Amino acid sequence: MQGEADISFTVKVDNLTIVDLDLESLTVTTASLNGEDLAYTHDETLLRITLNQVYNENDTFEIHIEYEGAPITDSSGWGGFYWTNDYAYNLGVGFDAAPHSFGRAWFPCFDNFVERCTYSFTAYTTFPKKAFFNGLPDFSYMGFTDDTGVTLNQWTIDNEIPSYLVGMAVGEYDVSVSQYQTSENDSVPIWLIAPENNLAQVENSFTNLSAAISSFEEFYGDYQWSKVGYSFVPFNGGAMEHATNIAYPLSLADGSLDYETLMAHELAHHWWGDYVTCSTAEDMWINEGMASYSEALFMEHIYGADAYYDWITDNHRDVLLYAHITDGAYLPVSGIGHENTYGSHVYNKGASAGHNLRTYMGDIAFKSASESFMSAYALQSVSSEQMRNHFQNYTTSDLTSFFADWIFNPGFTDFSIDSKLITEAT
Ligand SMILES: [Zn+2]
Repeated sequence: MQGEADISFTVKVDNLTIVDLDLESLTVTTASLNGEDLAYTHDETLLRITLNQVYNENDTFEIHIEYEGAPITDSSGWGGFYWTNDYAYNLGVGFDAAPHSFGRAWFPCFDNFVERCTYSFTAYTTFPKKAFFNGLPDFSYMGFTDDTGVTLNQWTIDNEIPSYLVGMAVGEYDVSVSQYQTSENDSVPIWLIAPENNLAQVENSFTNLSAAISSFEEFYGDYQWSKVGYSFVPFNGGAMEHATNIAYPLSLADGSLDYETLMAHELAHHWWGDYVTCSTAEDMWINEGMASYSEALFMEHIYGADAYYDWITDNHRDVLLYAHITDGAYLPVSGIGHENTYGSHVYNKGASAGHNLRTYMGDIAFKSASESFMSAYALQSVSSEQMRNHFQNYTTSDLTSFFADWIFNPGFTDFSIDSKLITEAT
């Protein structure tokens, strides 16, 4: 891969003379500013660029970086950049990587959950392969191919996103485009991006996608992104919630509805995870526990209350029986260690906590709190404490003890009847 990155900075401190960026394994060939070469060092992951003058707060500048090489996949097998004969695509987190955020596998960035920026993408592919990114394409160039067979692909996402939510998929893709009508009668395009031969199966498997959007809008507020997008890729280990360009296993869009809770889970990240992101990996339950809980909300919306409670009880049984075994200990949901960021306590016990928070507060309070939480922390990162304090404004129930029991401490609340007294009616 050959890459060029033009990164615009606004300085937040005085006396800035260096910029530290994350870029793993790839080789930098040039760093420059206004056409003037800049000195840099690059060890395994840290790209340190020395600026050509001192910059102070609110100054702006743009650094140009050229780099090349074979981007890596994570040692766990989950995350990074994947090449096959027919596809090139990334998964934005690495299950073993530290930090898990894994934009640095293919472009220079501040690779954490907190720093956000907007992105414009240009990719050159060989016809008939096309590249799909976050946001929307420049339709005037969509699929433009020159006489040497090189196709130009240009995309822009206007919402600020962290590096791990940047997603690209290249392949011989076709697109199914439909429209979702919001309650405000706005229209949001839905893009299902798959090889032409797979599109019919994909559409069948995603029959309930619009209903999934409705179910989450009811609980969490309006969908705030420029499109709903899924790129179907030949990866079977799970999906990745790149904002508006979810990487989703082609094999699980087989025409059946068997995996539609995964479809719903990734969509739910466009509230929990993409729109409001955990500040640290230790609070990953805010992303993954709440997205997993949203699968139950989707089931309730489509199939009714029994389906919802089946999901909740199955999940909670799994938590009680297995979470401490698969993760190695009874853990709190918040403050989780690096090895269990993507473990059972985060996903499954976190989902139980979501259900219990809803029933503890009641539907009206839970919906109001969730919706206002999304707007108060829009495109920002949060801690569990900030979530607790925000939700507390919407209920008279004591969320300090609730979060202490369910989020900040290991184990389970337990109820037992130790005696009974029967009195005869007179
Ligand atoms: Zn997830």
